Order: sequence, then C-alpha cells, then structure tokens
Amino acid sequence: MPDKNHQSIHCSVKSCRHLKQEQGLCGLESVQIAPTPMAYSGDPADESMCQSYHCK
Ligand code: SF4
Repeated sequence: MPDKNHQSIHCSVKSCRHLKQEQGLCGLESVQIAPTPMAYSGDPADESMCQSYHCK
C-alpha cells in the first residue's frame, strides 16, 4: 500500500507559481481541492479545482 505521506502531486498548470515545470510536479506538500461553482454539471472538468493555485 502506498505511503500517503510521500505522495507526489502531478500537475501541468503552467501559470501556477508552485509548479516545478521540469518535473511536472507541484512544489507544495499538500494542496486544497474544492468543487467549482459549476459543480454537478457532470463534466469532470467542471467538478473540481485547485484552491492552492497562485498565479506567477
Ligand atoms: S498549487 Fe495546484 S495548480 Fe499549482 S502546481 Fe500545485 S497542484 Fe498545480
């Protein structure tokens, strides 16, 4: 079973200051994910977003 204390957060949001672009990983130890205002549309892209995002 994977150790949850050593998870990697893979990400490709290039406009976020926390992204380590070379590795494609988030530099934070954890992130907060929340439903979007458009949640419950049924489209996966509408259902969640990273609230730890900060623009560069
Ligand atoms: S904070 Fe969120 S959007 Fe930014 S690199 Fe980490 S996972 Fe990606």
